[in-house]
Amino acid sequence: MELTVVGSVALDTVETPHGRNEEGLGGAATFFSLAAANYVPVHMVAVVGEDFPNEHVGLLKSKNINTEGLETASGKTFRWAGRYHDDMNNRDTLDTQLNVFEQFHPKLPPKAQEAPFLFLANIHPALQLEVLDQSEAAFKGLDTMNLWIDTALDDLKKVLAQVDAVIINDSEVEDLTGQRNILKGAEAIMAMGPKTVVIKKGEHGCVLIQGDQRFVVPAFLLSDVVDPTGAGDSFAGGFMGSLAKEGNTDFDALRRAVVHGTVVASFACEAFGPDRIATITEKDIHQRFEAFRELCQF
Ligand code: AMP
Repeated sequence: MELTVVGSVALDTVETPHGRNEEGLGGAATFFSLAAANYVPVHMVAVVGEDFPNEHVGLLKSKNINTEGLETASGKTFRWAGRYHDDMNNRDTLDTQLNVFEQFHPKLPPKAQEAPFLFLANIHPALQLEVLDQSEAAFKGLDTMNLWIDTALDDLKKVLAQVDAVIINDSEVEDLTGQRNILKGAEAIMAMGPKTVVIKKGEHGCVLIQGDQRFVVPAFLLSDVVDPTGAGDSFAGGFMGSLAKEGNTDFDALRRAVVHGTVVASFACEAFGPDRIATITEKDIHQRFEAFRELCQF
């Protein structure tokens, strides 16, 4: 089944202990789409400025990503800059320039409206609400971040009331609910609307919770983490891609989906920006999925 994503497409400047990548292709919708397109056709809805390199659009198109909903507006592309701490698990945001996102109102082309699966990747919750008004999706997933919890909580709560699943970091759970405990935090989020909550804990893996059902998954063990930027979005892409491919969202399908998210996210960390995630194949995913099964089995 087809999948639509709405979120940022960016030029990212990232510093990690491995080096610096200046104005490379980034953005939540970019990483998400590159991951999800390994599973199903993806419709990307976003905006870039006139300065956005054509080669990046070419890359997305070459990966089974429908860019009909990728608007080019006058002005500059969204920019984000971040620096990772030595532990590679924490980072500081150095700069966020909304640029063309300040005037953006997402317009979903007909096929993007009709797609049965929708993911609201990281953008202002007011824009996520505009997307919900246009979508006919039966299953809707959501990502957000501390910035919106701190500055746009009312809109974010309206979005939460309308989605089926939320994928969120442990620190964001605490910001949103005041709860440090993952189970209490998940309960508080489920009370806001979504039936399913996936809480990511960086290199420590993730927890899937739906009602009183729980599933815990470690992260895939990597010896070299080069740049974790986009790992969360790639996780979401693998998760939603797996669900859309199965056309099923019961708890067993959700369990498989978080493993796919984990496996795909691990590729994203192996090179700067989308350099690795853009080159993976279904075979790479399958091999790592089996290696992961071996890693966790006892
Ligand atoms: P992740 O590492 O999965 O949390 O995602 C990193 C990506 O999110 C980067 O490529 C950024 O361009 C993008 N990003 C960072 N801040 C924002 C924001 N405020 N709105 C939308 N996208 C953002």
